[in-house]
Amino acid sequence: MTADNRAAHVVQQVPKQLFVGGQWRDAASGATFKVEDPATGSVLCEVADAGRDDAIAALETAHATQPEWARMAPRERGEILRRGYELLVQRKDELALLMTLEMGKPVAESAGEIAYAAEFFRWFAEEAVRIDGDYATAPNGQSRFLLMRQPVGPSLLITPWNFPMAMGTRKIGPAIAAGCTMVLKPAQQTPLCALALADILREAGLPEGVLSVLPGSDPGAISEPLLADGRIRKLSFTGSTGVGRKLLELSAPQVLRTSMELGGNAPFLVFDDADLDAAVEGAMQAKMRNIGEACTAANRMYVQSGVAEEFARRLSERMAALRVGPGTEDGVQVGPLIDAKAQEKVAGLVSDATRRGARVLTGGESGSGPGYFYQPTVLTDVPQSSEMASTEIFGPVAPITPFTTEEEALNAANDTEYGLVSYVFTQDISRALRVSERLESGMVGLNQGIVSNPAAPFGGVKQSGLGREGGQVGIEEFLELKYVAIGGV
Ligand code: NAD
Repeated sequence: MTADNRAAHVVQQVPKQLFVGGQWRDAASGATFKVEDPATGSVLCEVADAGRDDAIAALETAHATQPEWARMAPRERGEILRRGYELLVQRKDELALLMTLEMGKPVAESAGEIAYAAEFFRWFAEEAVRIDGDYATAPNGQSRFLLMRQPVGPSLLITPWNFPMAMGTRKIGPAIAAGCTMVLKPAQQTPLCALALADILREAGLPEGVLSVLPGSDPGAISEPLLADGRIRKLSFTGSTGVGRKLLELSAPQVLRTSMELGGNAPFLVFDDADLDAAVEGAMQAKMRNIGEACTAANRMYVQSGVAEEFARRLSERMAALRVGPGTEDGVQVGPLIDAKAQEKVAGLVSDATRRGARVLTGGESGSGPGYFYQPTVLTDVPQSSEMASTEIFGPVAPITPFTTEEEALNAANDTEYGLVSYVFTQDISRALRVSERLESGMVGLNQGIVSNPAAPFGGVKQSGLGREGGQVGIEEFLELKYVAIGGV
């Protein structure tokens, strides 16, 4: 099969309809919308475009299925996840190609995301059977306390385009483990991965009505009726801080339980005493994973003056050597940005920084021709006043700012409303602990450029969000704690 035929085949295999109550169906309005390949700007296919009526239909099935689903044996729920894990692993290659076609990242990275996404199912398959409670005697000895954990109920899951499979499994995994029914609204740029995932879960034996998937071109048309309806009991959102804030407002009238995994503006600190090889390697990972389109992307690199020049030189060499192109081509390391708007945003941030005195060490230009490419870029002497110091770049641009003292680095690092992740490179154990304690972020990468791990709690502080996904606490987001006071014992 030629590469083009293979691409057409994986796209063709994915259902293009809405998944509601275990059935594939067209949108009630009959509408469809286009899915684009960001490497070429061409249309891959059209997908059913969900609206208000479809959202309510999905909610009705989630609500009707909830009691029975909550009663299903935890082991059975875990086994569905386990089969989902196995199917994802088995189909890794075709799913990776599908992801690259709609999202752009190189196929090898897409395969990495499928493996990461599958791990959430494996992790939560194991957590499903560990939901426990407690029993205690009241301090006065007169009554007993029984504590039980129960599913929170029908949940609305909203996911972004940048990790189209893993952001889905990171929510669906704990929701299945906890016994919640769900309505998933994937990002409009990447509906195909979510539809493929629904098909895998159907095959893995997920009962009808537990999960509905509603791709749509107008996100508010799906989310607003659901958030206004008291039958939805939980909103789990991953996306930008701006949209998260709006969804929190819309959740307030129902006092909805929410989990918010929002934007980041990660500082990346390199001290004079760092292992410079490790720091450069960590910078490449923290910056270039996912073409820089990650909430965890190193957004501001602060490098101590003794190593700043050497670090910048080595990083520029590595960045300049990266091969940019369509993610489906062999050997390509940097794919296109998601769309023209993203490309313009990155270009605008770079020209703002250079206007304010930053110097371009490598890159600094959009790619020519079709597709939304941007060259891997290193800037130095980027002033704190530049827009990119306070904005998520979401592209392959590494801004370096030298610093002198630890205090100065910490102040600069914490000077942001975001607080998702920070990175620190130092070989001084005291400094490592001191700085990790003082960084205002939910996660710290210490001498390591990647923090994501399904077995660890992922999440932010400040305006990067509320709650944690993954790890032992991840399932708590989908559970309510009930206390029963027992008298007459
Ligand atoms: P986005 O906020 O534009 O969209 C995220 C999701 O929200 C999509 O499904 C979108 O359709 C939906 N949405 C948009 N407007 C909406 C509205 N008015 N009502 C309801 N839903 C709406 O974000 P994006 O561009 O898809 O993703 C990138 C952002 O996500 C970045 O800010 C990134 O940092 C963040 N992100 C955070 C994490 C995390 O775990 N903290 C992980 C990945 C991405």
